[in-house]
Amino acid sequence: VPLKQGRSLMDWIRLTKSGKDLTGLKGRLIEVTEEELKKHNKKDDCWICIRGFIYNVSPYMEYHPGGEDELMKAAGSDGTDLFDQVHRWVNYESMLKECLVGRMAVKPAVPKDYHEEKKVLNGMLPKSQVPDALAKEGPVSPSYDWFQTDSLVTIVIYTKQKDVNLDSVIVDHQYDSFRAETIIKDYSYLIHIELSHAIQEDFSVRVVANVGKIEIVLKKKENTSWECLGHPLENHNSLIPKKDTGLYYRRCQLISKEDATHDTKLFCLMLPPSTHLQVPIGQHVYLKLTIAGTEIVKPYTPVSASLLSEFKEPVIPNNKYIYFLIKIYPAGLFTPELDHLQIGDFVSVSNPEGNFKISQFQELEDLFLLAAGTGFTPMVKILNYALTNISSLRKVKLMFFNKTEDDIIWRSQLEKLAFKDKRFDVEFVLSKPTSEWNGKRGHISLDLLSEFLKRSSDKSKVLICICGPMPFTEQGMRMLHDLNFSKDEIHGFTA
Ligand code: FAD
Ligand code: NAP
Repeated sequence: VPLKQGRSLMDWIRLTKSGKDLTGLKGRLIEVTEEELKKHNKKDDCWICIRGFIYNVSPYMEYHPGGEDELMKAAGSDGTDLFDQVHRWVNYESMLKECLVGRMAVKPAVPKDYHEEKKVLNGMLPKSQVPDALAKEGPVSPSYDWFQTDSLVTIVIYTKQKDVNLDSVIVDHQYDSFRAETIIKDYSYLIHIELSHAIQEDFSVRVVANVGKIEIVLKKKENTSWECLGHPLENHNSLIPKKDTGLYYRRCQLISKEDATHDTKLFCLMLPPSTHLQVPIGQHVYLKLTIAGTEIVKPYTPVSASLLSEFKEPVIPNNKYIYFLIKIYPAGLFTPELDHLQIGDFVSVSNPEGNFKISQFQELEDLFLLAAGTGFTPMVKILNYALTNISSLRKVKLMFFNKTEDDIIWRSQLEKLAFKDKRFDVEFVLSKPTSEWNGKRGHISLDLLSEFLKRSSDKSKVLICICGPMPFTEQGMRMLHDLNFSKDEIHGFTA
């Protein structure tokens, strides 16, 4: 039938991606009895069952190419036969994904071999194994559920939090272990399972932020029906303070290595296809290498590929590359070894850590960055993010401390960025300059800071980030307190 303007398939796809709650259930999935299904038989409240799954198709009515009347034929009932007669080739699971209400209630079957607390067909929301005391102190425990089609298995995590995004979940499928760690404040909620059947290497992760739902869509290797998701492994379905969880690693391949200065290199590592990991702004990871038979671990802060080309950081789900700016210390333990790696070699990369919170940018007007040497690394993503996403921002100033001009990382990029974006300014301070240097000299000091840290207005909201050698950072933070900046206005990278 002719559809109204603004009701094309593309419009429908846009609507489904808008994050709007199309079921009216705020992302919850429920079990639906036959009696309940029958009640939803009107145009503005129309549920239909297809292959055991219930969809609220009211929002889809005006977009249905066959017209509303055709859709209404199955209102409040099982429309599988009708659907199959007309368009069984249509990928309704993905088209109507956001309209999914839940499943038809069937009698729960008793799991045979598995301990997993789940009804085989329709067990919604298994009870979490969170100890009561912990649940009282920490955030509300998330829960999970799963469902399947012929070719896909979808694991849904209900975080019960609003501020989740693609950084909040880290997924790995290695050997026999499937692991999805969701970070909620200072806690980690883990799905940890030996899957009952084989899956393909790649999978997708989606977040419905406004309802706090995370969906991990796995592709089955064989189109068979799974009776259960699998065996629970250690700490499965539990919420644990992050500090009590171990570091989890995956092997990443070295893709490229380029000089950034005479002693600092830009390393590009590729995540395995079976990993979803995005390092949040201001956080670091641990790199692990076996050096002389011993596993050595050091922290490094991922950066963007450059300050300019990725000025607007692409929001690619499952972004596969991680970049690092790493200074090679000839007498160091880890960095010479890293430098000797050949393209194609592997390095283990941990889950992210760190306490920088993106909420610190809220309504920010003045951002001041104080960096020394490779202490510049956390500033890269902070700069990119702030200039791109914070509309209240009036000015961003970087004071970058180095020994000599040759040590300044990405100097020309910083200068180009300052030219391109009038809100951004950079000042270089050198402790061991040549006689030709016309710029600022010396170390971090009260004089330098008081001249540099000028608010754009008396009451402007300010954030000052500081990172470098530990004594530099600690000294700088003391000076900032002396200059009457409050704790909330200072973020020291002191990890
Ligand atoms: P080390 O073996 O630690 O030696 C470093 C230097 O110190 C060498 O010159 C060595 O000769 C000297 N040295 C070692 N021990 C002594 C001693 N007892 N007395 C005197 N001198 C000594 N670095 C980056 O390049 N990029 C980053 O993105 C980055 N991010 C970081 C994030 C965090 C949270 C932290 C804490 C550090 C970060 N670092 C970063 C630093 C990094 O973790 C390593 O410390 C650095 O790479 C040096 O490691 P190394 O094993 O090669 O050198
Ligand atoms: P560097 O080249 O040795 O020093 C950079 C500048 O800082 C130089 O001008 C240096 O002056 C000055 N400086 C050093 N110590 C100082 C101090 N105590 N007080 C005042 N100024 C000081 O630096 P780098 O080798 O790149 O080292 C960077 C450091 O940052 C490493 O220690 C690394 O661990 C740390 N880092 C931390 C994080 C994090 O997130 N926590 C991230 C990245 C890097 P001089 O000429 O006098 O030496």
